[in-house]
Amino acid sequence: MTLICASKYFNVDKIKDLYQKGVTNFGENRVNELLDKKDKLDDLNIKWHFIGHLQSNKVKKVINEIDYLHTLDSLKLANEIQKYRIEPLDTFIQLNLSEENQKYGINYNYLAEFLILLKKYDKINIIGLMAIGRENDFEITEDIFKKVNKLSIQFNLKFSSIGMSNDYELAIKHGATHIRIGRKIDEYISRC
Ligand SMILES: *Cc1c(COP(=O)(O)O)cnc(C)c1O
Repeated sequence: MTLICASKYFNVDKIKDLYQKGVTNFGENRVNELLDKKDKLDDLNIKWHFIGHLQSNKVKKVINEIDYLHTLDSLKLANEIQKYRIEPLDTFIQLNLSEENQKYGINYNYLAEFLILLKKYDKINIIGLMAIGRENDFEITEDIFKKVNKLSIQFNLKFSSIGMSNDYELAIKHGATHIRIGRKIDEYISRC
C-alpha cells in the first residue's frame, strides 16, 4: 500500500520533516502550490501526486511536473493532457459515487465508455479509480469504497485511491492501494 501525504495543510519544513521520517509520496490540490513546493524541495526524491480538481487551462503548467494524477474526470481534461504531457502519465479516474452532489468525478454508469474512449490517449495510462467518502457518514462511505472495489475488479484496474484521515481503515478493508492522509499524518506515522 502507498501512503500519500495530502500536504495542502503543510509548509515545506513540515514536508521535509515527514520526508526524513520516510514519507516520499506527497499530494497537492492546487497547481501553484505544488509547483512552488516542488521547486523548494527539488533536492528530495519525492513522488508528486496531483489530487485536487485539475482545470483544463492549468494542465500545460503542471502536467509534466507530476508523477501521478488522481482526478481525471472529463474528456476535455484528457484532451489537454494528451496535448501537453511528454511521457505517459499514471492516472486514476475520479468517480463521483456520492448521492450528495459532490462537485467532481464521473458517474460510474459512464465508466465503461470513458475507459474505451481513453484507450486512444497514449499519454494517459489508467492505473485505477479514485473516490472520496462522505464526511461524517461511515455507512455511505463504506458503500462508496465497496463500489470502487467492485468496479476495479470488473474493469480489471489495479489500484484504488481511497481513504483519508477519518476513513483510511475502512478504505484499506475495501482494497485501498493508495491512501491520502492529511490532518492525521503524524498519528498515522506514529502507528506504523
Ligand atoms: C485534503 C485531501 C485529503 C486529505 O484529507 P484529510 O482528511 O486531512 O486526511 C485527501 N484527498 C484529497 C483529495 C484532499 O483534498
